[in-house]
Amino acid sequence: MPDLTGRVALVTGGTRGIGLATVRALVEAGATVVLTGRDEARAKEAASAAGAAAGLALDVTDAKAVSSLVRAVAKEHGKLDVVVANAGIMEDALLGMIKEELVDTTLSTNVAGTLHTVQAAARAMMRKKTGAIVVLASIVGEHGSAGQTVYAASKAAVANIARSAAKELGRSGIRVNAVAPGVIETDLTAGLSEDAKADNAGKTPLGRLGRPEEVANAIRFLVSDEASFITGQVLGIDGGLVL
Ligand code: NAD
Repeated sequence: MPDLTGRVALVTGGTRGIGLATVRALVEAGATVVLTGRDEARAKEAASAAGAAAGLALDVTDAKAVSSLVRAVAKEHGKLDVVVANAGIMEDALLGMIKEELVDTTLSTNVAGTLHTVQAAARAMMRKKTGAIVVLASIVGEHGSAGQTVYAASKAAVANIARSAAKELGRSGIRVNAVAPGVIETDLTAGLSEDAKADNAGKTPLGRLGRPEEVANAIRFLVSDEASFITGQVLGIDGGLVL
């Protein structure tokens, strides 16, 4: 396991699923971790259960709130080494059924929310000229998916936030990477029918769906010094799934 002793980390959407598993993985490696969630009580509860330093309320669609929270965390802990922009939503709709509201909520959360988080992280890390950022893309952002045009488009944008930010921030000592999970068993995918889960597992060479901890382990590697020459990459964590 990489050693993250002395590192200060922030994980958005850290109250459950991949975010919570990432908080646990970073804490296990010795980092001081602050997690955020939309609901303050749930964030505090998750933080205390996972051994995080704090659980704070944050809606990532609110650029000003993201900026001031990230600044406050960096001020309180004296620095910010790691940011995981994990918060995201997924709602399916066939092309003919896509409503404007779905486009707005998906793009404001997944694209603008990730962008706000990366911007604020970069500002906080720039001072020390070091840092590592990971954003949550998706296999469907790379390959597309029927019934998920809006979500897939949002995740393609997230991957390109990582690629572009990595180019801009490299000279400042800040690495930016994305992970692109396949189908991971969390609340986000709990609504999939048993048939759909079996179909996805069948198309996966490893023959099963993924676990949140398996994504968290890859994120922990990417934010650690073991990945010191890796930036601008989109790492698939999908058991080999071919869509
Ligand atoms: P999840 O629904 O279990 O957790 C998502 C988290 O994001 C929750 O804590 C939620 O409260 C938070 N969130 C949502 N909107 C927010 C907002 N506006 N402000 C702040 N927080 C907000 O989902 P998950 O499966 O753990 O997914 C985590 C990330 O991984 C998401 O970005 C998702 O798109 C991505 N992802 C998941 C899968 C999968 O199969 N589960 C696959 C590919 C990518």
